[in-house]
Formats: sequence, structure tokens, C-alpha cells
Amino acid sequence: MSSPTRHPVLIAGAGPAGLSAALALRAAGLPAVVLERRTESSVRPGSRAAYLHGASLRELERLSPGLGHEIAGRGLMWATKRSYWAGQEVYTRTYPPSARDGLPPFTSLPQVITEDLMATACRKHGVEFHWGVEVTSAESTPDGVRLTDASGGEWLADYVIAADGARSVLRTAIGSPLEGPRSQNTFVVVDLDDDPDHNPMPIERVFHYRHPRVGGRNVLTVPFAGGWRVDLNLLVHDDPERYVSPEGLRRWIPRILPEAYGERVRWVSTYRFAQQVAARFTDTHHRVLLTGEASHLFAPFGARGMNSSVPDAVRAVEAAVEALETGGAGATRAVARFAEERKEAATYNRACASAALEHMLAHRPSLWLRQRAAAAVATAGRRAGAWLDSAPYGPKLAARGAARSSY
Ligand SMILES: Cc1cc2nc3c(=O)[nH]c(=O)nc-3n(C[C@H](O)[C@H](O)[C@H](O)COP(=O)(O)OP(=O)(O)OC[C@H]3O[C@@H](n4cnc5c(N)ncnc54)[C@H](O)[C@@H]3O)c2cc1C
Repeated sequence: MSSPTRHPVLIAGAGPAGLSAALALRAAGLPAVVLERRTESSVRPGSRAAYLHGASLRELERLSPGLGHEIAGRGLMWATKRSYWAGQEVYTRTYPPSARDGLPPFTSLPQVITEDLMATACRKHGVEFHWGVEVTSAESTPDGVRLTDASGGEWLADYVIAADGARSVLRTAIGSPLEGPRSQNTFVVVDLDDDPDHNPMPIERVFHYRHPRVGGRNVLTVPFAGGWRVDLNLLVHDDPERYVSPEGLRRWIPRILPEAYGERVRWVSTYRFAQQVAARFTDTHHRVLLTGEASHLFAPFGARGMNSSVPDAVRAVEAAVEALETGGAGATRAVARFAEERKEAATYNRACASAALEHMLAHRPSLWLRQRAAAAVATAGRRAGAWLDSAPYGPKLAARGAARSSY
């Protein structure tokens, strides 16, 4: 029986991290082979990563010229953001139009569309996809990695980029657990179809602290191309089922949006958000490189999940390319540097997402009192309002001495 082909680099997973890694490999002139559990035609539910930062757009544009512009063109941008405290507006800001390298500061569109555009770019650059291939185990040695799939197939590689998501088989195989807490409160996340002809809404991001029409719960409403995402922050003792059942949705959505939106639910899910980072981003032999949600999970406030998966994947490919070129101790150093840098970036991103969660939930009495005080003066002083408004992104961490790191 012939032995399996040995690849310089294999990628497990065709989500944003795996697709970015595939584009980066092709841009570096190496073959890119992706093993993906899903079939090619399967559609992933939910808007998930709706908000793509300008930095991600520029990186994707660099890897595949035209891709950043195409994603930006399909997405939507809002210029105005508002925050309310118990129904009273405490902050509003409208930004003038701006662009860098012809790309906007961000764009908002469902992750499934972004992934589709990325996969099309991958095909254009000759990426080899193996759909319906589920990696079930991995064995790393000083010489390389052997993967086994669900139908018993074997795959050999010098390096493997693990982009197989939150329940990563590769992370488990290299013995690197996710470490960190999970939010106490449940969040209900709903995607609603837009209704521009009958129920137009201003294209604005709106955050409500203690919304009076939903029993004082926090609500974040964010537009994306074709719809709206609503995050309802449940109280610790709420029963999520009451809010996600069709009757529940018809009851609370019309209290915060035009009535017709109660009938326009495209997708709903509940989350207790994990704030977790892998113990190590590579194995003891420096052959498996963890990227994206295989290596970190963040609450989505601040949009740091997919946006950090792109640079994770790009840096992993740079390290693998350097390792292939240098070999020996140089190879180990290149992968170790990747693992250290991306763990530092993930730890920083988790700190920012934690600050956002803390700000939104305000479980600490001192923070709760400070927020109330800020809300009382916010109409007169913009700084207090701006501080309240920063909750959905995570307030600036510089003052707390957190290490600044790239996404
Ligand atoms: C409600 C919500 C809102 C979010 N909003 C944002 C946002 O606005 N901005 C942002 O940046 N991020 C956001 N995120 C996070 C973002 O969705 C993730 O960070 C992103 O999908 C991670 O990409 P990934 O490629 O690492 O993992 P995934 O997207 O999970 O992709 C992993 C891929 O690997 C495949 N796979 C899994 N196991 C195997 C296996 N054993 N063998 C082969 N293939 C396998 C899966 O089928 C999948 O295709 C949000 C997440 C949620 C839940």
C-alpha cells in the first residue's frame, strides 16, 4: 500500500482562520491543503462575526488583492452610535466618512458571506479543499505530524495549522487545555431580517443600559448588511427559554424595535460567553500551530474573535514558512516565537473583552455606582457619556497597564 503524500503544511478547518491561513500560504508560494469536516454546500447558521475591522480588511486585501474591497463592498457601515441609560440618551457620536488604502474603518456583514468570499478567493489561488474530512486524531513527533480522519485516512505534514474551532481535536491532541472563565449571565443573540420598505430604522449602533421596556436588561442593536443583530443581556436568574421561544421573541422584540420585527427572526441562540485562552499555542515538538478559536474564545463585544483569527493565521504561516526554510533549532525558534506572540495577543484581547463584559454586567457595586453617577452627569459632560458608551467594546485598558498587542 502506498504511503500518504507528505505536505509541507496542512490546515485543519475552513473557518475564517483556516481560510486566512490558506490564502497566506498561497501568497507565500506554497501549496495549501485544507481538511474540512463540513460538506462544501453546508451553510453555517447565524451572523456570528458581523463586524470586521479595517485591519482585517487590509490584511485580506494584501493576501488576495481585491478581496478586502469586495468584502467591504458587500457589507454595511454605520456612522452613528448611541447609548441610553434607563431610556435616556447619554451619548451620541457621528463619525465623518474616512478610509485607509481605500478601505473603510470597518464593515458589517454576516460571517457566512465573508467566508464565502474568502473561499472563492482561495479557489482562485489554487487552494486544495477536502470537504467532509473530519480530523479525529493527531500525532506530533520531532519529524512532523500524522493526522487521522473519521474514515481512517491518514495525512502527513511537516507542520499543521490547527484552525478547527472551539472544540479543536488538535488542541486536545497536543494536550493544551483552554483556560479561563465563562460569563455568569446568559446572552440571547438574535438575527432579524431587515424591513427597509415598511419599517426603516436609522442605520445606527444603539446600546441600552437597563432598557425600561425589557425589565431593565441591557440591549445592544447592531445593523449588518441585510439585517439586525440584537444582543439581550439576561439577568443571572432569568430562564433563557422564555426569551428564545417564538412567543417570547414576539413579546420582547416589539418592545425595542418596530412591531413587525417580532416576525422577522432569522436565527436565535443563547450564549454564556467563554473568556478562554489555550495553555500553549504549539506542541512540545513545535509542529502544530493553534489559531483562531482553536486557541482562544472571547465574548464578542469588541469583535476580537474573527478579527484576531486573521493575524493568528498569517503569523502561523510566516512561522511555518520560516521553519521550513531554516530547519533545526531555527525552526523551533520560529514556531516558539509565533506561540508566544499570539498567546500574548490573545491574553490582551481576552482582557479587553473581559473589561467589556464587566462594564455591561456591572456586578461590582463600585462600578455600578460609578455608572449611575456617570449617567447622571452624562448629558452635561461628554467624557462621562463616552465612558458609558465604550461598554460594548471594552474600555481602554492602557490605564490598567495591560500589554498593548496587535489583534
Ligand atoms: C454570536 C457571536 C458573535 C460574534 N461576533 C463576532 C464579531 O462581530 N467579530 C469577530 O471578530 N468575531 C465574532 N465572533 C467570533 C467569530 O465567529 C469566531 O472567532 C470565528 O468564527 C473563529 O474562526 P475559526 O476559523 O477559528 O473557527 P470556526 O469559525 O469555528 O471554524 C472552524 C472550522 O473547522 C471545522 N472543523 C471543526 N472540527 C474539525 C475537525 N475535527 N476536522 C476538520 N474540520 C473541523 C469546522 O467545521 C469549521 O468550519 C462571534 C461569535 C459569536 C458566537
